[in-house]
This record gives sequence, C-alpha cells and structure tokens, in this order.
Amino acid sequence: MSAYHVKTPLVRVENLVKEFPISRGVLFRKNIGSVQAVNGVSFEMQDGETLGLVGESGCGKSTTGRLVLRLLEPTSGRVFFENRDLATLQPEVLRKARLDFRMVFQDPYSSLNPRMSVEDIIAEPMQIAGIRTLERRARARDLLEIVGLRDYHATRYPHEFSGGQRQRIGIARALTMNPKLLVCDEPVSALDVSVQAQIINLLKDLQKKLSLTYLFVSHDLSVVRHISDRIAVMYLGKIVEIASKKDLFNKRLHPYTQALLSAVPIPVPGAKSTRIILSGDIPSAINPPSGCRFHTRCPEVMKKCFNEDPVLMDIGNEHKVACHLITH
Ligand code: SF4
Repeated sequence: MSAYHVKTPLVRVENLVKEFPISRGVLFRKNIGSVQAVNGVSFEMQDGETLGLVGESGCGKSTTGRLVLRLLEPTSGRVFFENRDLATLQPEVLRKARLDFRMVFQDPYSSLNPRMSVEDIIAEPMQIAGIRTLERRARARDLLEIVGLRDYHATRYPHEFSGGQRQRIGIARALTMNPKLLVCDEPVSALDVSVQAQIINLLKDLQKKLSLTYLFVSHDLSVVRHISDRIAVMYLGKIVEIASKKDLFNKRLHPYTQALLSAVPIPVPGAKSTRIILSGDIPSAINPPSGCRFHTRCPEVMKKCFNEDPVLMDIGNEHKVACHLITH
C-alpha cells in the first residue's frame, strides 16, 4: 500500500443540521419557530471502530444517530456510507443500502413486537428480503446462539425474557442481514449495572467476530469509556470535542468535557477526582445562546465567547476542540 494511501471512511458525516418545526393552532397550523436539535455536526468513522457519542439529554446525540441511519431526513448536510451520498440514492438502492446499517434501541421491550415469537422477530427482515422459510429459521437460531441465547428460546415471546435477554434479542434482530454499522442508542441504560457489563462485553465480542463498526450513543461516560475507541462530546446540538479515548481522558481541553469527565469514577483504589459542578441547566434548543452555546454555564467564559461561535479545531493527532481557550 502506498504511504499516501488514505483509507476511505465507512461513514462520513458533513455539516449535519436537523431542525424540528414548532407549530401552533388547531385548524390552521402556523410555524412559530424551530428546535435546533443538531447544528453543523461532522465526523468520520473507520471500518471496525467504535465512536462514542456522549452528552446530557437533549444535546442531539440520539437525533444524530437517527440522521446517520436516515431514519430522519436532515434539514441540511450529508451522510456518506462507503463514499456514497445517501441522499442521492434511488429509493430501491437506499432500501438495499440500509441493510448495511441497523439500530439497537434503548428499550428492547418496546421495540419488540409482543405478539411475535422470538424466531419471527429475528427472521422478519429476512422475510421482507424474500429469504426462504427454512433458511430464515436456521439463521434465526444461529443468531440466537451468537448472542448467547438457546435454541429453545426461539418459540418464546418477548414478555418471557429478562431485560438483558430482550436486549440480546434486539441485537440478534439488528444482525439479521449482516450489517456493517450498528447505531446503538443508549443500549444498556435501561438495564441493571451487572447486566450492562454483559451486554457491553457481548457487543465487544460481536465486533471482533463480525467486523462491526459501532456508533455508540450514551449519556453514561463510564459505559462509553469501556467500549469506545474514540469519543465525541456533544453540547446543545454541536460536537465540542472529539478525540481518541486516551486523549480525551488524559488531555480533556473543553471546559464542558472537563466537567462531564470529572463525574466519572477513577478505576484506581484510593484515587480521587475533583468534581466540577456546572451551574444552571442546559439552555433551550429553541433559542440557543449566541456565540459559544456553552457560555451560560462555562467557568472559563470570556468576552468573545458571548458573540463568537468557536470552530472545531484540530490540535493534532485528530483531537478536535471547539473553544476560544485553544487560540487565546
Ligand atoms: Fe467556555 Fe468560551 Fe470555551 Fe465556550 S468558547 S467553552 S464559553 S471558554
């Protein structure tokens, strides 16, 4: 391979924007504004890596995951999957391309049809793809084994399983058509801590065995730390810092990242971290603050932060930060 060969990323997201209109009135709906859920998000994902997407609830991380899968149409911006702009694909081509990227949901119970047996739930995407019954059954049972369930579970219904087992079924269903990318949206946050570790370890094993790429969306930095290769921190619709896991934990530069990470327990006996408590709540995405969106809560705020929006700057080693302190 040439020294100048640049690997094509599996996913490239360019300047993604998503606004949800707000309307009022019963008979005559009138647009009175919009919620800026995602504002200018860009990142790349290489084949086989896990990118963690973290931030407080309402920061736009789950919306970003849905935009990547095109479960939502972006207001503007583009998503490339293996160098193909998904917005330009014909519906039939997009339907086939979609088999390569699937979602693992937060609440497996509400995402599994209670009236279908586990085998039928897992086999459903194969039925839509026109795969024969016997082949579907065999594949569904293989998948059950791959996610750590048993053959006899195939004929049971979702209510007969524990939360962890239901998440295993959700993962099996996501794997049905051999996807390349899984967007995992808070996949363990509804589970007990002991079960969380089992599901995270399962996802890590599956990634190795099946060469999967994960976009892992979570508010829980301890979980994200365990599974991610790189981490992107989001605040009010924007990425404020993105780096390798090691760089983010060792050289956290953005004041918001510093506050978030200060709440993560250090896995060393006797070690203490100084918790940074942010004042105030996350501002409304309907009317976000001018300049740096974090300025209403930032302990380092300075004059230019009120009206100049900092750019996400590469400070080396693919570590990017959006904060005026970097250039100050
Ligand atoms: Fe704080 Fe200003 Fe940096 Fe924003 S740009 S994080 S307000 S120092």
